[in-house]
Amino acid sequence: MPDGSTVTPVAPVPPELSADTLRRAPKVLLHDHLDGGLRPGTVAELAESTGYTGLPTSDVGALGRWFREAADSGSLVSYLETFAHTCGVMQTEEALVRVAAEAVEDLAADGVVYAEVRYAPELFVERGLSLDAVVEAVQAGFAEGVSRVAERGAAIRVGTLLCAMRQHARALEIAGLAVRYRDAGVVGFDIAGPEDGFPPTRNLDAFEFLRQNNAHFTIHAGEAFGLASIWEAIQHCGAERLGHGVRIVDDIKTDADGTVHLGRLAAYVRDRRIPLEICPTSNVQTGAAGSIAEHPIGLLARLRFRVTVNTDNRLMSGCSMSSEFAALHETFGFGLDDLRWFTINAMKSAFIDFDERLRLIDTVIKPGYAALA
Ligand SMILES: [Zn+2]
Repeated sequence: MPDGSTVTPVAPVPPELSADTLRRAPKVLLHDHLDGGLRPGTVAELAESTGYTGLPTSDVGALGRWFREAADSGSLVSYLETFAHTCGVMQTEEALVRVAAEAVEDLAADGVVYAEVRYAPELFVERGLSLDAVVEAVQAGFAEGVSRVAERGAAIRVGTLLCAMRQHARALEIAGLAVRYRDAGVVGFDIAGPEDGFPPTRNLDAFEFLRQNNAHFTIHAGEAFGLASIWEAIQHCGAERLGHGVRIVDDIKTDADGTVHLGRLAAYVRDRRIPLEICPTSNVQTGAAGSIAEHPIGLLARLRFRVTVNTDNRLMSGCSMSSEFAALHETFGFGLDDLRWFTINAMKSAFIDFDERLRLIDTVIKPGYAALA
């Protein structure tokens, strides 16, 4: 640094939106993992009642911190290891019902009016449950949660996404399960798990099956891996949305004078309005972004990509929709208009019927933001 220069610290933008306003703002969540959103107390109690002995501690406060710290390691592989414990305590019907009901209560308490919650049924069959029994238990839990929320005078709509794990070879079977349960609340399908070494093209038969059945699917792509993964998900597999998709920024160049150039893939994603299920805190934890301030969501929103904001794993990230909105507000200065835009983007991109999406936008989301303004 040359002599005599001074460094003026950049003051953080003072938060203008209160925590209460952020909580009351209607929110739509498209990317939330059931096994990533348990209450720490529930993990501890279920471990006790189901005889799961693998937890690092039974102290609830310490357990909550352990999940966040283990997930903070900066690698997607370590991040995924925390799921051994949550999945370990979710191997009975009672546990699945409880976890699903509590997830709905927690989302509604956070101001979420529509959520698509996802999980991989094949991870919950260690103690003999069938895939069908898993799906039915989770649907029963969601229904229980929705009715508890209604008893408190609030409302939430929940859709289910069934995931297949990239490293297993059951995608076609799980896709069949998603189609069989579509009239029971399953609205779509996803492929999750490590991207490295497991390209989505390994599961082309599942995507072909879903397309032939007019079923919806998203694919985790462009989180740990780059443009090739996004390109395959869209152009080979036919994904309607991208789980994360943040690495699309690698196809965007900014000149020194600020002029922005989109490559052909980035332009295609933007032109086709392909939704990006962006999970800011999770992306920082897995190293897909250096920090919230460096997260491409600022650029992607400015360029009007179909950006949506999501939690990914509320337990591992210690986050909620409100806390993600708060972080974006404080870091990028996004105001209520921007939060409403993210929310309507997400609602437009949901996998439920068009008329129901429109109804939620017109009767819940727009009036909800108007009441806050
Ligand atoms: Zn995810």
